[in-house]
Amino acid sequence: MEGGRNLHASREQRVAYLSAAARLGAAYVDIELSTLEENRLLRNPLFAARGEKPAPAFVFSYHDFGGMPSLAFLREIRGRCERMGADVVKIAATPPTLGESLPMAQIMSERDGWTRPFLGIAMGEAGLWTRVLGPAFPHAAPFTFARGEGAPGTAPGQLTWRELDARYRYREIKPETPVFGVIGNPIGHSLSPRMHNAALKAAGREGVYLPFKVEGDPAAFVRDLAPLLGIRGLSVTIPHKETIIPACAEVDPLARQIGAVNTLVRRDTPTGPTWYATNTDARASASSLEAALGGPGALQGKKILIFGAGGAARAVAFGVKALGAMVLFHNRTVERAQKLAHEVGGQCVSKEELTGTGFEVTAVVNTTPLGMHPDVDRSPLEKNELPGGSLVFDTVYNPQRTKLLRLAEERGLRTLEGLAMFVGQGAAQFELFTNTPAPREVMEREVREALTQRAAK
Ligand code: NAP
Repeated sequence: MEGGRNLHASREQRVAYLSAAARLGAAYVDIELSTLEENRLLRNPLFAARGEKPAPAFVFSYHDFGGMPSLAFLREIRGRCERMGADVVKIAATPPTLGESLPMAQIMSERDGWTRPFLGIAMGEAGLWTRVLGPAFPHAAPFTFARGEGAPGTAPGQLTWRELDARYRYREIKPETPVFGVIGNPIGHSLSPRMHNAALKAAGREGVYLPFKVEGDPAAFVRDLAPLLGIRGLSVTIPHKETIIPACAEVDPLARQIGAVNTLVRRDTPTGPTWYATNTDARASASSLEAALGGPGALQGKKILIFGAGGAARAVAFGVKALGAMVLFHNRTVERAQKLAHEVGGQCVSKEELTGTGFEVTAVVNTTPLGMHPDVDRSPLEKNELPGGSLVFDTVYNPQRTKLLRLAEERGLRTLEGLAMFVGQGAAQFELFTNTPAPREVMEREVREALTQRAAK
């Protein structure tokens, strides 16, 4: 009646089916509050099954497939369900954005004044957290909804039972479970949830890591929703790496120089939670490069040529500079490269210079999206343009072997995949989040597997 898709039957027929289900031993019988409120006598045949052994639990539910009610309205519905005799109260609504799911987080967080188990579901991508974190809230209902593998599900945003069970370890979630996640927009493609959940599991750590599609100002998310969800650490991706900075009480000096952060760690203070922000992209890219070039000290005094002048270029540039390298830039928009070169203390080079004879660098780093899926046939340099003797590092990691890396290999040059940086930045985040050494091999294997599965689709 409220938008569910499966049963086209009159109110009386529905109650008859549900009463039969209750008598036949269904553990839970879910009926819309509105059905009961319009004809209270319908409760009698239903509740007759309460005498059965085992007695069914009656879920009184409210659905809004078109939007997200206010907190006051949610309280009103929850109260009416409790007063009507529900064993479990379920409210499902559809916040258009993650920010608009706040009333659901607020009502799920309430302990006082309620007596019955409560299942709050925010449908769609914005409500993924409700599907995973239910057991972390007071009065948590003893069940949730999931769909079978390959099945369409009964409501938007439903996860498969395997995702809930294997990836998010739903059965282990409880009020103290540390929650982590990644904020970005879009976020559906992010490999971080797979990588971090696999790492938490492999390291034997309690915790769950979720994707959060944050639209608009990310400060509102960390101020309002994150504390209610018990979030202790966040990865930050495009487009929030710069805009989140003002919401952070403390910013690591290198991240401040870069002007972008990719990691937030919650710090609990006497006046409430605050956020410490850092940038693990910079250290991960620099240490991957340093390791590939021979280990500690290998970047000292070495020339590194960076293609691009965007966020990744900034992280790589400040990262390698901190390890003693000299940086050169080449970018499509020359002024942007000039500005970055000025900030980091580097130089710009033209295409003619870098492809001319006698041009030598220790490593070439691509930080442009050229070669990234789906434009896999593009490369910032052709084979004969690559500086001889250099190591070629492509920060693009989807695909794992980009055209640039294949060309470098054909030239007999050493290569470094962007995956090293991606896993490195994630491993550093994991260590900040958990104070536990990161299981890097597991993280790398998980990301490779995810990329291989995507490539096969
Ligand atoms: P960004 O801030 O948008 O910067 C993109 C840069 O690439 C800019 O310098 C831009 O030049 C240049 N560019 C874009 N399209 C181009 C084209 N068609 N031809 C030539 N240059 C082009 O993006 P970002 O955050 O730096 O990310 C860039 C890439 O880095 C991503 O695609 C991703 O694959 C990679 N990345 C990897 C990791 C990792 O962990 N491995 C982490 C972060 C990023 P203009 O200045 O002229 O616009």
